[in-house]
Amino acid sequence: MQIWLDQVREEPFNWDETRSVAPETLEHPELISLGPIEWKGQVTFVDPGYYLRARLSYEQTLSCDRCLKPIVEPTESDVELLILVEHASGAAGEHELHEKDLGVLSVQGETLETEPILMEQLELNIPMKPLCRPDCKGLCPTCGADRNETACSCEEPTADSRWAALAALKSRLEAPGR
Ligand SMILES: [Zn+2]
Ligand SMILES: [Zn+2]
Repeated sequence: MQIWLDQVREEPFNWDETRSVAPETLEHPELISLGPIEWKGQVTFVDPGYYLRARLSYEQTLSCDRCLKPIVEPTESDVELLILVEHASGAAGEHELHEKDLGVLSVQGETLETEPILMEQLELNIPMKPLCRPDCKGLCPTCGADRNETACSCEEPTADSRWAALAALKSRLEAPGR
């Protein structure tokens, strides 16, 4: 969505829409699906810039980092940004200052594109390692059984691999000649 800032000078701009975003566009394999996104906000003129306030609410489905089970998570986030219009004649020093300042967005020209703001929020709301529960036991690396539900009879892989490594070392040492 494009907001014409010239018009915002006259009166605040409001939007309230439902968006659908394909989860693949976010390039996070753990993000399985995204429900309809309620996306609403307002841009007002605050001399010399503009003030944007917006809210997103939706449901996201992530796969558990350990057991791959889907986790449905209601998600909500608020955005507040000061929008400053950067004129071609603006001093370079001023630009650097804005970049460092969190919550300030510099735009060129008289239009504001809201899409990158929405996408950034979706990105920020994806946790690093989603877990279905804090103590998720994950899947057995040998048979793939969900250890939260069944105790499989596989041997502990750590002990197993240690013995295997030792046996390999032993047979190499015992091998006659080369
Ligand atoms: Zn899990
Ligand atoms: Zn197993």
